[in-house]
Amino acid sequence: MSSIVRLADYKNDDKIDWDSYKTAQKNNGEICQKCNAYQFPAQGHLAICFDCVSIATDRDEVTHNHLARCPVCRETWRPEEMWLTECTSDSSRDLYCPTCNHEFTVEVHIVSSLTSPPLVEPEGE
Ligand SMILES: [Zn+2]
Ligand SMILES: [Zn+2]
Repeated sequence: MSSIVRLADYKNDDKIDWDSYKTAQKNNGEICQKCNAYQFPAQGHLAICFDCVSIATDRDEVTHNHLARCPVCRETWRPEEMWLTECTSDSSRDLYCPTCNHEFTVEVHIVSSLTSPPLVEPEGE
C-alpha cells in the first residue's frame, strides 16, 4: 500500500502551498499526470489515468472529461473554457484540431450536480 500525500505537510502558518501539494500528489500517482483527475488507489509513482490511456491508445470513440482528440493526427487538447461554459445542455460541437486543422464534431455531455440550501433549525412546536 502506498501512502497518501498529507495536505497538513504542505501547510505553513495556515497557508497551503497548493503548487507543491499538487506536484507531490502527481509524483505519488494520486492525480493523473496529464489531466489532474483523481485516481484511486494511488500508484506511488507518476501515472496517467484510465481515460488518458484510453484517449492515447483506443482506435474507437473515446470519452474524456477534459480532453478532445483529433481523429486524424491524435492530438489531444483541452477545448477553451469559454467554449465549455457556453454549453448548457448535452450537445454537439464542431472543433478544429490545433495541429492539423481537421474539423470534426464532439459530443458534449453536461454533468449536473445538486446544491441544497444550508441547514436550518427545525420549526418550533
Ligand atoms: Zn488523465
Ligand atoms: Zn489533428
